Amino acid sequence: MQLRYNYRAYPNATQHRALANAFGCARVVWNDCLRDRKEAHAAGLPYVKSAELSRLRITQAKRTAERAWLADVSAVVLQQSLRDLDTAYKNFFDSLKGKRQGRKAGPPRYKSKKDTRQSIRLNTNAFSLPAGGTVYVAKVGNLNVTWSRRLPAAPTSLTITKDSSGRYFLSFVVDTEPDILPQAETDTGLDLGLSAFAVLSDGSKIDSPRFPRRAEKKLKRLQRALSRKAKGSKNRAKARIKVARQHAKVADRRRDWHHKASTQIIRDNQAVYVEDLAVSGLGRTRLAKSVHDAGWSAFVGMLQYKAVKHGRTFAKVNRAFPSSQVCSACGFRDGPKPLHIRKWTCHECGTMHDRDHNAARNVLFEGRRIVAAGRAETLNALWSAGETRTKVPAQRVEAGSPRKGQTTQAGSPGLQAREHVKWMGLVR
Ligand SMILES: [Zn+2]
Repeated sequence: MQLRYNYRAYPNATQHRALANAFGCARVVWNDCLRDRKEAHAAGLPYVKSAELSRLRITQAKRTAERAWLADVSAVVLQQSLRDLDTAYKNFFDSLKGKRQGRKAGPPRYKSKKDTRQSIRLNTNAFSLPAGGTVYVAKVGNLNVTWSRRLPAAPTSLTITKDSSGRYFLSFVVDTEPDILPQAETDTGLDLGLSAFAVLSDGSKIDSPRFPRRAEKKLKRLQRALSRKAKGSKNRAKARIKVARQHAKVADRRRDWHHKASTQIIRDNQAVYVEDLAVSGLGRTRLAKSVHDAGWSAFVGMLQYKAVKHGRTFAKVNRAFPSSQVCSACGFRDGPKPLHIRKWTCHECGTMHDRDHNAARNVLFEGRRIVAAGRAETLNALWSAGETRTKVPAQRVEAGSPRKGQTTQAGSPGLQAREHVKWMGLVR
């Protein structure tokens, strides 16, 4: 499976300029090609092929006066930009056809100089790792990097990013072998708790991390300071960077915490089932804060890829499944329970339930059922087919991590759900 390894880089002044050029050129190629396709579409003409765009907007453009500077950056950067645009279109078309899981992908959009995150992508033709610990990037030079951890193998691609707080990061994609863990005896269902972060079907709780709230206070203070600064002033620019840094810090710490919790759960259990919450739907209600704080979807993404990596079963239980209404002891559907009801007694069998614990047990039973019925296969099969392209950030060991808001989905050859199920003895 493919994992991402992120490191912070420290370009010197010359390299700063070279990278700014590269970001700019990648953006121009993206925008030029996007415009051609949009105009062709508006005129009722067929979709413009990549080969044609490559010839027109890269090779020939370099010979024109207004695009001559494209020749100053590595051709790989320009080609990758076009390839990324193709991927964005493919995601959009797949989304239209309903071939894509998860959130709908919109059509590709123009990139702006003012975008907070600038990036370029390189393949091994345009970067290398010379002895001495730097990273060589074509037309940029040898970048100084903090190697917070070892790369486990030779990387196949590199993305260089500048984030909103002006930090540079190198993100390497590395192919790694699955690391199948010894069989565990237990399986578990997880329910997103509101008082706790999550409740497991054995009744244990994972407490929410405390830090985001505290860090959030600081963030609010910085944001207030920012709003007081005059528009366009130097102090405003400084305050904006402070806000961005604090945002990044909160996101980094939250992600570390998610990694620790998800690793533990995957190690302890042979199968993990979670409720597939419509987080974006819940996010509009007054629960928004706690749900988003908890970062449930990022956490679930980590469980997914770690399950594939370590040979565990993972399945999502449909969000329409009424996990909080059904008695996990007798199966009686006891009717809706408003959120403030934390404990209830089954009208059929008289069992007293803790709301979250009962829901987690229901998720476990439903998860076992759908996996046994083979209905969870689609998810793992999708990974095996490499349909989900997003690479997963590998868990880091040290503090000072790079990017925020990264999606965590696996694009990896995993084991099929049915194979896991057979080990568990659930398939008849
Ligand atoms: Zn009951």
